[in-house]
Amino acid sequence: MKKYIFLILLFLAGPGLSFAQMKHRGGGAARKYPSTDSPKMAATPVKAVIKPFESVITSSAVTKVGLFTVHKVDDKYYFEIPDSLLGREFLAITRYTKTPGNAPFYGGELANEQTLYWEKGPNKNLLLRVSILVNASNDTTQAIYKAVQTSNLSPIVASFDIQAYSKDKNGSVIDVTDFFRLDNQVVSIDPQLKQMMKLGMMATDRSYIQRINTFSINTEVHTVKSFTFQPGAGGGSDRFESLPIPAGDRTGAVTFELNTSFLLLPKVPMQKRYFDERVGFFADEYSLYTDSSESAKKLAYVVRWRLEPKPEDMDKYKRGELVEPNKPIIYYIDPATPKKWRPYLMSGINDWAKAFEQAGFKNAIMAKEWPVNDTTMSMEDARYSVLRYFASPVSNAYGPNIHDPRSGEILESHIGWYHNVMKMLHDWYMVQAGAIDPKARKMTFDDELMGQLIRFVSSHEIGHTLGLEHNFGASAATPVEKLRDKAWVEENGHTVSIMDYARFNYVAQPEDHISEKGIFPRIGVYDKWAIEWGYKLLPDVTDPAAEQKILLKSTSTRLESDPRLWFGGDGIIGDPRSQSEDLSDNPVRASDYGIKNLKRVMKGLPEWTKEENDFQENLQHMYKAVEAEYMNFNGHVLKVISGMYLNNKTDLQKGAVFTPVSRESQKGAVDYLSRQVFQTPKWLLDPVMIDRIGLSPLNETKKIQEQVMSRCVSAAVLLNIIACSQVSKDPYGLPEYLKDIEHGIWGELDTHGAIDIYRRNLQKIYLDKLTIVIKPNAAGEARQGAFLIIEPSVDESDVASYIKIDLAELKKRIQKALPVMHDRMTRYHLMDLTKRINKILSDKD
Ligand SMILES: [Zn+2]
Repeated sequence: MKKYIFLILLFLAGPGLSFAQMKHRGGGAARKYPSTDSPKMAATPVKAVIKPFESVITSSAVTKVGLFTVHKVDDKYYFEIPDSLLGREFLAITRYTKTPGNAPFYGGELANEQTLYWEKGPNKNLLLRVSILVNASNDTTQAIYKAVQTSNLSPIVASFDIQAYSKDKNGSVIDVTDFFRLDNQVVSIDPQLKQMMKLGMMATDRSYIQRINTFSINTEVHTVKSFTFQPGAGGGSDRFESLPIPAGDRTGAVTFELNTSFLLLPKVPMQKRYFDERVGFFADEYSLYTDSSESAKKLAYVVRWRLEPKPEDMDKYKRGELVEPNKPIIYYIDPATPKKWRPYLMSGINDWAKAFEQAGFKNAIMAKEWPVNDTTMSMEDARYSVLRYFASPVSNAYGPNIHDPRSGEILESHIGWYHNVMKMLHDWYMVQAGAIDPKARKMTFDDELMGQLIRFVSSHEIGHTLGLEHNFGASAATPVEKLRDKAWVEENGHTVSIMDYARFNYVAQPEDHISEKGIFPRIGVYDKWAIEWGYKLLPDVTDPAAEQKILLKSTSTRLESDPRLWFGGDGIIGDPRSQSEDLSDNPVRASDYGIKNLKRVMKGLPEWTKEENDFQENLQHMYKAVEAEYMNFNGHVLKVISGMYLNNKTDLQKGAVFTPVSRESQKGAVDYLSRQVFQTPKWLLDPVMIDRIGLSPLNETKKIQEQVMSRCVSAAVLLNIIACSQVSKDPYGLPEYLKDIEHGIWGELDTHGAIDIYRRNLQKIYLDKLTIVIKPNAAGEARQGAFLIIEPSVDESDVASYIKIDLAELKKRIQKALPVMHDRMTRYHLMDLTKRINKILSDKD
């Protein structure tokens, strides 16, 4: 459930699939399950001898009373498990607390998560089972309940001999030393993560329990675990590059400190709320079996906090008065966080309180400083949600949550905040707002500006921990010209959701004089609606299915009355409204405005990036950032071509679910490509950049041309254009599309002007890409791509025929133009291209 804020999903959304597959798939909150091999701890039970309590827990024992009472006798740790807790479910959450330098994980991050329960075994032993919720039958009185139970046997992951009974005989004392000290798949690092880090066997002589603390609903086990490591084996010193962990590389060993929380799940699970595809909540999915249903029903229920009015306020709540929740959501700020940023991180959290008012709660969420002087509190304690601050070079932040797998109730959250998030924020803001905000024009921003940037990311990550998914469709609810309307945009914000990846108002022009209020994203109408949908109680409805019925109806009404509430998921494939890093309802206009600003930024960079001790690194870095932004803009426009809008509706709602993008919009997108990409973007080839950072104009241009062309003349897009034009009222067919594209690429054939080196490359790339479509190389390059679900088949379509007709005509145009072309290089080029076209048109490979 990690959500990375920095991922640039430029070409993620590709065509080439059936429209129905575009549908946003709900409930994708993946849970990790242990693999089937049994942990080393689960030894065959031997006949145990149960001793008197005093002879096991001797007078030298150090005892801590809590959920499990913990006794330490010499170097052994014992748990006293009350019989009342047998069969009760626990979450076992294992986190790293300290990791080796440059390891891909940091203190506070999750290493393992399991749902466990204790059970009396047959041989005077206690068994530990892992509960895996894939199938469920809610009603224990139904016959099928038994069938579900018998076909979903929970694995026994450990067995403990009972050493003694509790003094009051209502519990069992077991030795847990080796269970926690040694390696297993339940409370140690998840095997997949171990493999990723290239960890070998556990070094048992260098692994031990540091301490065990116990509280009312949780028991906390701190361990030190060492593993062997093959030097040079790789293992990810950076999250996204496979470099060895330096400590392992140098010494052959790596050591982690871990904390495992045993957290008691509520006896009565919170009431579930069923997932609705039209509202962006994380959800858990499982199959529900009932006696009456013909087949198992796939059900998903959302992940959210338990917010309830105090019993004495219930009547007020029902009357619609704002009340405080029984237990507010509290986030603590890691004391390792630099002091000057704390108020902003806290504001980002407190900003959500307004949204909860729409669900009927006031003061529902708040941020607090970690009480450093309170020695009874531990940041690893599962009862506390903490925003952790990591001193690491990663430019990222994430907002996971720990929830009850039976009900979706969020129990705690540890947000990860990496120091270098600020670097990322700096670069975004300079690139996107440098043209309109003078404060963005330096390498180190003023604290107030950086603080506000931090506040925005804090809000976004907190949104995830409240259960909210990304809504990349949010920005599309804003008409493009409103982004330039000072009064409107300052009042309404540039995007209706903080859960979009809509960074800053890059559409606004300097002459619009828009202040930060209209530049920054903030919690918007969609977010408030989503919180209302997920958290507003229907106090008299205690059956989730009945509640679902009511909500389905009221949600339909609400969405029909306010189209701004449309949920666009994490990038719906094919739908140009659902994109990251974009703004407005019009990608073409927005990108045109964006490029106008990028040109200003490019001119400013040499001055803005100046620092005394810097040798052009700033300039080079920021140049790349501007270029990347330009490529983003192109990506937004490309998604318009052969696009398909998806509006999820229930059977009872009227209107189309799938609507092709209009011909006019698609033609507008092709026109953009002609103007902004095919006409060489010379503004990117600034002479200062060539002088100062050694820019190669030819390489830069080629890279851009390649990237755009491999999308717009790919098999996937061409096939999709044919498919979309079949279902469109005003179709944009493939012959017209190819003609429009060529108008931008081959304009010199009409004007008879010289074709310069950039354009010669462009024309060659175009022919190359078409060749790959109809004659794919051995690797089938054109027909496969990460973004394709169905492999398109060019051979079984009209694509090749259209391309061949088109190329035959292009050849004629070239031959007609050749005699009147005066530039020598242009003539050679065109003769070469004629040969290439002949080769494509011949049937020989
Ligand atoms: Zn996110």
